[in-house]
Amino acid sequence: MNAFETIAAVKTPHAEYGHMALLEVGKGCGRGCRFCLEGQVYRPVRHRSVEALRETVARMAASGERRVGLVGACVSDYPWLGELLKVIEENGLELSISSLRADSLTEDLVAALARGGHRTLTMAPEAGTERLRWAVRKPISDAQLMTACDLVRSHGIPNLKTYFMIGQPTETSEDIEAIVDLAGRMLERLRVPDATGRPFGRLTLSISSFVPKPWTPFQWAPFDGAESLQAKLEIIKRGVRRFSNVRVLHENPREAALQALLARGDRRVADFLELAASYGGDWRRALREWPGDAEFYTTRDRPIGERLPWDHFDVGVKKAGLLREWERAQTESTVAVGAR
Ligand code: SF4
Repeated sequence: MNAFETIAAVKTPHAEYGHMALLEVGKGCGRGCRFCLEGQVYRPVRHRSVEALRETVARMAASGERRVGLVGACVSDYPWLGELLKVIEENGLELSISSLRADSLTEDLVAALARGGHRTLTMAPEAGTERLRWAVRKPISDAQLMTACDLVRSHGIPNLKTYFMIGQPTETSEDIEAIVDLAGRMLERLRVPDATGRPFGRLTLSISSFVPKPWTPFQWAPFDGAESLQAKLEIIKRGVRRFSNVRVLHENPREAALQALLARGDRRVADFLELAASYGGDWRRALREWPGDAEFYTTRDRPIGERLPWDHFDVGVKKAGLLREWERAQTESTVAVGAR
């Protein structure tokens, strides 16, 4: 990992993060969230040493960069983060991190982000209830989320963005309503002036639709379906209308359905791709005219014994381990969080 630099090779203002120099701190993630492909296929976890990064950061500063964006599957798990923050500040650079785990946030990290001009802190609770967070193996408690809100305000960061995913295995209507409830509780903690008296800005709920990915423990789970996801989105949007400074961002569930078809399809889905290409990329028209059954690939429960279209690829993930995790998810989803 230390033998070569991992920085963005092309920097252009037309890219999403074009205004900052990107620096990868490591690859892989050891957390094992059951929906996450990255956490499975990029194992083992490898980090670049802080010494290697020190040289790169110094070179970035010397070449006139002003802001450095740290990249990695889970940057807040980088073991020498405190030291790296110092290196970045010593070189006069501002710091940016895309998303942080609420359970690895520290005073120092939030303070460094605030000093680096961060206007929005982003974290991903993924689900409204602790029960569902535990079932997907992202065991972040409500208390940790509230502490994160307090840190955001005590360091004067004006906005908070949160990622949620709907349509996850074992989800119920209670989990959907809980997203609204959680937003309200976070807002109560956030709606305090910061140390200089400035009010809180905006809480953003960014809602994505769960697509069961191959080579993850949830590869056997069905995709929820565009209509069901749309109905859940409406519940959330209606629910947060009473909060003036909560914004909901979401993708179109139909696009998630397309993603599910492409992620879970077999060789027969190639016909659909050809058709879409022949219509200049108009996949909606292609879906209407394709004779295949999209739901066969997307919303159907896959029995454990079914041979999956991606089984013959070796990406270094053992199916037995995935199955164990899939079975654990079913069991753990029924156990109250306090009883774990
Ligand atoms: S969702 Fe994030 S924390 Fe969880 S396994 Fe994936 S990269 Fe790691």
